Amino acid sequence: MRARESESWTVFLVVAVFLQVTLLLVGWTAALAVQRGVHLEGSQIQGGLVRGRVPSASVVEFQGERVRVSRDGWFLIGFARDAPAKVVLFVVFPTGLRQYYDLPVKPRTYRIQRIDGLPRRKVTPRKEDLARIRRDVALVKSARKVDDPRTDFLAGFRWPVLGVISGVYGSQRILNGKPRRPHYGIDIAASKGTRVVAPAAGVVTLVHPDMYFSGGTMIVDHGHGLSSAFLHLSRTLVKEGQRVKQGQPIAEVGSTGRSTGPHLDWRINLFGLRLDPALLVGPMPK
Ligand SMILES: [Zn+2]
Repeated sequence: MRARESESWTVFLVVAVFLQVTLLLVGWTAALAVQRGVHLEGSQIQGGLVRGRVPSASVVEFQGERVRVSRDGWFLIGFARDAPAKVVLFVVFPTGLRQYYDLPVKPRTYRIQRIDGLPRRKVTPRKEDLARIRRDVALVKSARKVDDPRTDFLAGFRWPVLGVISGVYGSQRILNGKPRRPHYGIDIAASKGTRVVAPAAGVVTLVHPDMYFSGGTMIVDHGHGLSSAFLHLSRTLVKEGQRVKQGQPIAEVGSTGRSTGPHLDWRINLFGLRLDPALLVGPMPK
């Protein structure tokens, strides 16, 4: 009888300890899950932009580089045209917890686009054109360096122009039979003079009447290094430094620079990273 009693006591103890440990683990995991809270929304795909949210005062690094986090905890990350299958996000939470996240990136296959009938000089520039091209590149580069704490991107994006899509992001280009750099914008065919509206609010950081390749060019900064560029414009309606609202007319469609017909080439950049604008808006309305 005695031996039996002590046996059941042992069983009781083992069960009690097991339950205790289990409860502790469950509680601990739940607490971690709360702290692990990184909320991500957007397109986890090559060329995609993702908007994330962490508790305010967290530190975020993406692929080893510090990312701006707004006072409300918002941040932006983007995936290059040829981004690897997995990228790393690192967060230091205000609690001191440090967490790595492996984010899968969906791969894409890109089209090949042949465009013929371009002026030869716009495909293979002459020596005397190179200085002008370098100046254009430097201006665009410095506009895209702007790192503003505004979060205009939070309100979402709309199409800057409605029309037939004649060129997409990422396609490999063969111009007049010569392989050239991939296309990074979305081309929307529309007649000359069609109003271009701001796809999101922002500040105009560059207006140029005639760049060598992109013709009439405008850049609007949406905050946190996210910017829109509008190419081949016939006319611009706003000035550098001006604040614009979403939907406000900012320019008119044209065919300036290296272009075979009137269209808007809309680009999205996260600093130097070229992203796909089409992923920020719904399908083109008919
Ligand atoms: Zn284009």
